[in-house]
Amino acid sequence: MKKFIIFIFSALVIAAIVLVYFFFISSDRRSNGTTFVIPFIRNAEAHQDWAVEALSTCNDAPFIMPTHGLIGYLWNDSFKIDHRHQGIDIFAGTDIGITPVYAAYDGYLSRQSDWKSTLIIRIPSDPLEPGHQIWTYYTHMADPDGSSLIAADFPPGTSEVFVKAGTLLGYQGDYSGDPINPVGVHLHFSIIKDSGTGKYLNELEITNTLDPSPYLGLPLNKNDRPTFPIKCLTTAK
Ligand SMILES: [Zn+2]
Repeated sequence: MKKFIIFIFSALVIAAIVLVYFFFISSDRRSNGTTFVIPFIRNAEAHQDWAVEALSTCNDAPFIMPTHGLIGYLWNDSFKIDHRHQGIDIFAGTDIGITPVYAAYDGYLSRQSDWKSTLIIRIPSDPLEPGHQIWTYYTHMADPDGSSLIAADFPPGTSEVFVKAGTLLGYQGDYSGDPINPVGVHLHFSIIKDSGTGKYLNELEITNTLDPSPYLGLPLNKNDRPTFPIKCLTTAK
């Protein structure tokens, strides 16, 4: 009898461990964009319910969604040790040069003379912290060889041109700087802090960027383990 009780008890403990294990594995799948990125890229038409709409706003968020597609990677995502993703990646699910990219908020657009795929827009007063200057950063708008997909209105060397929210900036590309290893067609969008002297800080450091969640009204911080696909529950145009 005693052996039987030990057997039942052991079986229950093992079953509980297995259940907990599968619960965490499955919840991890729901909070991991990679699970969605590959099927979305392969067949975006079949998964349009996973996509966010360009130019949509979520609830009372100040920014509009800058492009259409699957939000695959988040702020604070980690692709390798000692690296945290400083923005969000929105995958078009189309070929390059097809899916438009728009300004998320009014500001002053600049493009350095050597920028093939990147634009930056200065926002003099942060809508969530008025009086503080911030910057929005848009990149990967070129083909793998660096042929630009940025709108003709913003040639290299453009400086401080005022653009309204919703202005067409260019089209999603997959430029990575390495033609052999393009990054997949997406927009990388980030919000950069100001140096305090009117310049933007280095975008490559996450500590120089802001959590985009409150700006777009969506759960975009990986540390909060949001459930994919990331969508606005009450999208208003
Ligand atoms: Zn990115």
